[in-house]
Amino acid sequence: MPAEYFNDDQFFRQIVDASPAAMILVDQNGSICFSNLAADTLFGYSEGELLGEQIEILVPQDAHLRHQQERAEFFRHPQARAMGSGRFLHARRQDGSRFPAEIGLSPIKQNDQWFVLSLVIDLTLLKQAEDRISFLARELEQANEQLAQLALTDSLTRLNNRRAFDEQLDIQVRLMKRMGRPISLLVIDLDGFKRYNDRYGHLTGDQVLKSMASLLSNSVRNSDIIARYGGEEFVVILPDTAGPAAMQLAERLRLAVRAHPWEADELTISLGAATLTFPTLSSDAEQDDGSRLFSEADQALYYSKSSGRDRATHFSEINKAYPNS
Ligand code: GH3
Ligand code: MG
Ligand code: MG
Repeated sequence: MPAEYFNDDQFFRQIVDASPAAMILVDQNGSICFSNLAADTLFGYSEGELLGEQIEILVPQDAHLRHQQERAEFFRHPQARAMGSGRFLHARRQDGSRFPAEIGLSPIKQNDQWFVLSLVIDLTLLKQAEDRISFLARELEQANEQLAQLALTDSLTRLNNRRAFDEQLDIQVRLMKRMGRPISLLVIDLDGFKRYNDRYGHLTGDQVLKSMASLLSNSVRNSDIIARYGGEEFVVILPDTAGPAAMQLAERLRLAVRAHPWEADELTISLGAATLTFPTLSSDAEQDDGSRLFSEADQALYYSKSSGRDRATHFSEINKAYPNS
């Protein structure tokens, strides 16, 4: 291309007006000496309208003072840099609205006079995309939390499911062992529930299981952990609870079930209880402490069933009943 083209002001004007980046040239007094088409369009001015205006016309009101100070500072040490690096900048349109912007500053010297060329990039779309991404990330996080919660929840009763119970039993046994406190477990099974279902229908049976979940939830302490172990079997973990207190609760639950106005017909439960005590403080987590507690409570439940149902048995009573076993 012939060199004379580049001495043609008209041609240079065409080049800067073709730039998609907004360019604004400001003198040391903060007065606008030049703006290209992209700048006029971005800020909402007609051609030439910005000339002679103070640059602060393009800065939101609340940043005017700081902008003036930083402008003076820039001309004391003129060197190319990003404006307000590390901080989120906003620019102001003619109609007073604000938009996020990235601004690059380059000093230019002409006839012993310093100017600054500002390159303004509108970040509105980028910011919108970023906001959308963080919104979606938050939604994803919530969905994952819900999913994790669902994986541990019994869908019929909304109680903990067996998986959650296994996890919690392990955690609570370790904790009580470390604290040297007792822990008890109740295993609860509805008596003759197959017949109840056969007589009144599966839907009524489901309703009974839901009511049972509420009854249990309303009868225990907040620190106790209830789960549906499966079918018509429920479990209650009782941290920091010794045998006698566990049996008191078992008896209270048994009577509450007898007294409850059930959906179709009266109902009873059988319960088995067991307790682990840790006489010396110990942090050795024995893997099968929890399994042993469950197994003993289950044996006690079996004893309640085989000795007539509608009763509660503590595992320690079975040993007394069969002293040689
Ligand atoms: P027992 O006194 O020996 O415990 O007798 P049972 O009939 O309760 O015991 P069994 O284990 O023979 O039957 C359990 C019944 O519980 C079988 C099934 O009909 C009922 N059941 C298990 N899960 C559900 C459920 O999700 N919904 C309903 N409606 N019934 C269930
Ligand atoms: Mg049963
Ligand atoms: Mg059962």
